[in-house]
Amino acid sequence: MSVQRTLAIIKPDVVEKRQQGVVLQRILDEGFRVLAMRQARLSRQAVEGFYAVHRGKPFFDELCDFMSRGPVVLLALERENAVAHWRAVIGATNPANAEPGTIRKELGSSVGENAVHGSDSEENGARECDYFFAGVDQA
Ligand code: GDP
Repeated sequence: MSVQRTLAIIKPDVVEKRQQGVVLQRILDEGFRVLAMRQARLSRQAVEGFYAVHRGKPFFDELCDFMSRGPVVLLALERENAVAHWRAVIGATNPANAEPGTIRKELGSSVGENAVHGSDSEENGARECDYFFAGVDQA
């Protein structure tokens, strides 16, 4: 195991419900170091770029509509084994299949509106942090 970076996004559904604080406290309780954090209303173009790997999938338009419909909170996080640890904390993509106590189980409402994002590999963690926070390496 090694110290890694992962990108977390608090998605628009959580911000709309004013529950960002629940996720932020969990991030701190889980021992992550916050390298960078900002709230942003993502443009459709920024979302399409971020989720480019999903272009062409049946849910791509729905995903881009959702992620650009209101503000999100972007966080570059660092921790030992950050990628797998954050994925375990957030739970399965579909909240219906997520373990009790995971963020998606507690705050997600559907496979699309599932509360939070987490990078899925060490390489993507570094790339996704750079996508929104260029130069975060120096933080
Ligand atoms: P993740 O790594 O757990 O976020 O899951 P994926 O990389 O497979 O999908 C990215 C995001 O697309 C998910 O977090 C969901 O917000 C959305 N998504 C995935 N599958 C579906 C689906 O079947 N329908 C809809 N509407 N959205 C989906």
